[in-house]
Amino acid sequence: MFIYAKGNMDKRIEKYFEKSTHYFDGITHLIFPHTCLQCQVELSRFEKYICVFCWEKLQRTYFESYAEPSSMDKLFWGRLPLNETFSLYYFEKEKPIQEMLHALKYDFKASLGKYCGEKMGKVMLQSEKYKDIQALIPVPIHPKKRFTRGYNQSELLAEGIAQILNVPILLNVVQKTSHNGSQTRRNRFLRWDNAMEQFSLMNELLSYTHVAIVDDVVTTGATLEAMAQLLLSRHPNLRISLLSFAIAK
Ligand SMILES: [Zn+2]
Repeated sequence: MFIYAKGNMDKRIEKYFEKSTHYFDGITHLIFPHTCLQCQVELSRFEKYICVFCWEKLQRTYFESYAEPSSMDKLFWGRLPLNETFSLYYFEKEKPIQEMLHALKYDFKASLGKYCGEKMGKVMLQSEKYKDIQALIPVPIHPKKRFTRGYNQSELLAEGIAQILNVPILLNVVQKTSHNGSQTRRNRFLRWDNAMEQFSLMNELLSYTHVAIVDDVVTTGATLEAMAQLLLSRHPNLRISLLSFAIAK
């Protein structure tokens, strides 16, 4: 909740902590991170969370300027009738992007999520492809998980995107129902079955014809496919786009 503090209050609290001794150092850094999350180098006033060098190390997809189908489009070929897809970065293990996604998910960097969403939105604005997306549906996490984590990283990304694209976020359409562990050891088809059972439709999408589902990272695409299929089962003519911060290479 501290991370959400904004405006003058920020400055006042920051000043207070600056005057304090090393006792508060750990806390100030937790609340107002001034060092790069990746390399710990001190950030300038113009940098946020990650230094420019570390942002540079993340590999951009440039999907927004693709005229031909991207690897993300191809991942869903034969699985979904899709409108547009977008991912900002490529995901590779043991690379800075992995730490970045970990920070988004587990390190209470709630404001980082929104910031990353804004980055996505600004890039999407450069393309005509995403112009008619009417609303965003973040991939939900189980309420229990949301409670312990304090936020849903996909929802934070959606907040950032929504602010730039000026579209609403629909939080009450799909709910995560089952609470099962990691899917990493299952194969693609087992994962899909499993993913399909994990969501349920809470409300109908009455006034929208084109929505985008938002996720943090796409690997097999099973989660996005399951959510899209669920929406299509009720709204067969709904146009669906898929947006993620990163996609496995
Ligand atoms: Zn750095």
